[in-house]
Amino acid sequence: MAEYEYDLFVIGAGSGGVRAARMSAQYGGRVAVAEHQALGGTCVNVGCVPKKLFVYASEFSHAFSDSAGFGWQNATANFHWPTLRENKNREIERLNAIYKNLLETPGVDIVEGRAVIVDPHTVAVNGREYSCRDILICTGGYPYVPEFPGSEYVINSNDAFFLDELPSSIVVVGGGYIGVEFAGIFNGLGVKTHLVYRGDLFLKAFDQDLRTHLAEEMTKQGVHVHFNEDIESIKKTEQGFDLSLKSGDSLQTGLVMYATGRKPNTHDLGLENTKVSCDSRGYVQVNDALQTAEPSIYALGDVIGRVELTPVAIKEGMALAGNLFKGESNTIDYNNIPTAVFSQPNLGTVGLTEAEARASYDDILIYRSEFRPMKATLSGGSERALMKIIVDASTDKVIGCHMLGDGAGEIIQGLAVAIKCGATKADFDATVGIHPTAAEEFVTMR
Ligand code: NDP
Repeated sequence: MAEYEYDLFVIGAGSGGVRAARMSAQYGGRVAVAEHQALGGTCVNVGCVPKKLFVYASEFSHAFSDSAGFGWQNATANFHWPTLRENKNREIERLNAIYKNLLETPGVDIVEGRAVIVDPHTVAVNGREYSCRDILICTGGYPYVPEFPGSEYVINSNDAFFLDELPSSIVVVGGGYIGVEFAGIFNGLGVKTHLVYRGDLFLKAFDQDLRTHLAEEMTKQGVHVHFNEDIESIKKTEQGFDLSLKSGDSLQTGLVMYATGRKPNTHDLGLENTKVSCDSRGYVQVNDALQTAEPSIYALGDVIGRVELTPVAIKEGMALAGNLFKGESNTIDYNNIPTAVFSQPNLGTVGLTEAEARASYDDILIYRSEFRPMKATLSGGSERALMKIIVDASTDKVIGCHMLGDGAGEIIQGLAVAIKCGATKADFDATVGIHPTAAEEFVTMR
């Protein structure tokens, strides 16, 4: 009889946990995964997937107004929130079932319930103990809302996906991915939208030019953007909420949403029964092999707080499964990870920002193109797209590509391959464009 019931017990069936579990099982491991909520984790249930569906929904309003110049008449429509919400829920349920199948097909046992680590080789779920050679913590994170007078009235991004009704106005707080994306969603769905951010300019990890440009574009689309501003208190009124702002101003609104970052799910996990350590922000600390200070316990995904993106958690899950069950020694390359903010317009980026490049290279070249997208010529829209290429002058290597404009996420994904391969500006120049596209601008910038 085997010493342990399982070779690997995964806690959390989000993107990273599911990938690690099913690959480990495919490689011959005896694997269980515990989940106390819906399969698929944040990305599938209250993150990337439903968010993107909401972005699609909200983009129709721009298409309706653009269509008049192309000959469409009376192309306005009434938006029905319950239809979107219920269709989205159905799609998520379909994906939950697919995740179940993905786990069960290679033979992963799904344990429904909240897991607690009892000792370095034992996990308990619903009072039953499971012995395991290794444990993998993939518990992700949860939305963080600071405490202040009236903070009990605000919703977070999890709540935003299930609203009973759409408010006529909303104040979104936070200048990260979630705040910016949801401000665009609500605005596109016809909600009067304010975005409040405590700093000078939102999306502080991104290229300055794109951040400035996005603030202008969102303002043109009708989002009321407030920088260097914060909420001090919220009072409930008959009509909604009355907000007192740091500047002394006040705002009245139907709903307040906080998108002020996320925190790792490490509470009540039994970490005190192990040598696992967390950093000052509460994230589980791991080495290059994703191993914690307790040799039989590993962690990956949002709970380790390295790069909180689904595709990164998936890469980590693949790497770990190979290490544990195929004798590989994979490590993760966290350089040149492409990412997109599904703002309206989209912001896509890979590699270094101009400021980062200036700080690490002696001599850089910046290629920049700002233009009116072709569609705007007939729609009469005032939007402008922006693209930047950043080049190390000494090697001609492209070290950053940035785009703000329709389809930026799709376009930057392709360029990320080129950057990963070490493409030079000469390689970009030697590439033939696809005409007429916005993307061809990346191979014609001189
Ligand atoms: P972020 O950490 O990206 O942004 C949080 C924002 O809230 C920042 O602007 C921050 O300000 C502000 N903030 C933090 N604390 C306070 C406070 N006490 N009062 C006022 N403002 C505050 O978090 P998000 O919640 O937007 O997203 C979490 C993560 O999820 C992202 O980092 C990303 O990794 C991932 N994600 C990825 C998406 C994608 O790939 N498209 C989409 C959504 C999320 P400051 O800048 O001053 O610190």
